[in-house]
Amino acid sequence: MKKIAILGSTGSIGTQTLDVVRKNKDIEVLGISAGHNVKKLEEQMREFHPGLVAVWDEEAAKELKIRTSDLNIRIVTGMEGLLELASMEGTDILVTAIVGMIGIRPTMEAIRTGKDIALANKETLVTAGHLIMPLAKEHGVKILPVDSEHSAIFQALHGEEHGQVKKLLITASGGPFRGMTREQLKNVTLADALKHPNWVMGRKITIDSATLVNKGLEVIEAKWLFDMELENIQVVVQPQSIIHSMVEFVDGAVMAQLGTPDMRLPIQYALYYPDRRYLEGDRLDFTRLSQITFEVPDMNTFAGLKMAMQASKTGGSMPTVFNAANEKAVEKFLNGKIGFLDIYEIIAGAMERHNVISNPNLEQILDMEKEVYQWIESRW
Ligand code: NDP
Repeated sequence: MKKIAILGSTGSIGTQTLDVVRKNKDIEVLGISAGHNVKKLEEQMREFHPGLVAVWDEEAAKELKIRTSDLNIRIVTGMEGLLELASMEGTDILVTAIVGMIGIRPTMEAIRTGKDIALANKETLVTAGHLIMPLAKEHGVKILPVDSEHSAIFQALHGEEHGQVKKLLITASGGPFRGMTREQLKNVTLADALKHPNWVMGRKITIDSATLVNKGLEVIEAKWLFDMELENIQVVVQPQSIIHSMVEFVDGAVMAQLGTPDMRLPIQYALYYPDRRYLEGDRLDFTRLSQITFEVPDMNTFAGLKMAMQASKTGGSMPTVFNAANEKAVEKFLNGKIGFLDIYEIIAGAMERHNVISNPNLEQILDMEKEVYQWIESRW
């Protein structure tokens, strides 16, 4: 029986991971965690009986202890709690379904203690890929992609030689504002931005999809995961979200993974890799599919992708600055404090003033995150 722990079990990826566990019945959940959502955690504790629960917020943890006093389950808090969950004895795979850079330390802790990582938390690789990938190699652990695009590439690469890959083609839906001009974007609301055309996801990634920052994060994530040069990663807009991504090989062959938009497929593939299991749900019906279309991404209007590429090209601490500025800007947009286009302005401002550190260690990355947050708070 496979044993897993989940960072961020109450979110979009976390709950879908538990749905995969529920349907398959041969995975044991040793640990779960969340930021604040005690109601959902209580439900999950009663259904899955994990041995350990980590809650970021102290007050929420107190409430959870009262609500579940009839269960014999240990509840821990804060970063120490997340680290304990990440390094739990007996876990085979840590599913990183937490959102943001907060996932870096627990992910590294899990790798150090020999767990494979089912990675959804892309912000971790974007900011600390240069630390995480060598650490995973050193400890002989697998980083199994959960992001649908990276899972598609991972599936297309199965059994292939790295040296025979020419380029990665990451597909993008284009988000809810595809085709709009900068002028039109001035008036979009939070509610508009939260309406993704094809996927139902957490709030932060949904906004990242609308700005195309998400695609930028994915390009950097792909660079680390598949050891590819930035020049050999191309973004293609495919508005129907049927092709989840593609790989072009040296002989010109292109392998793609297609399917209906359902995150349980990449989650399940990561948990059982290299096996495939039955997954209930809709199937593609090629007799009824009217079209699959392609476009070039509009990187001038949706500057998120362009800035991510610049950050990655500059390297060192710049991707951390790009990511941290985006995390804070999106938080402000979600709280109604800034407009949609301000997100780009904040990221550009943070990147412009930054003096790059060439090979930042973990402490420098975490300091940089704080510094960027403080700078934004002092101005916006
Ligand atoms: P959600 O916002 O839906 O869920 C985030 C999870 O992280 C929740 O369980 C939340 O707990 C928890 N969390 C947040 N802050 C903390 C903290 N300080 N300590 C402990 N737990 C915390 O996000 P998603 O599931 O959408 O995304 C998760 C990650 O997966 C992101 O990195 C995203 O980019 C990536 N991803 C998501 C996809 C999707 O379809 N949703 C697709 C591909 C990648 P609480 O509920 O208490 O707030």
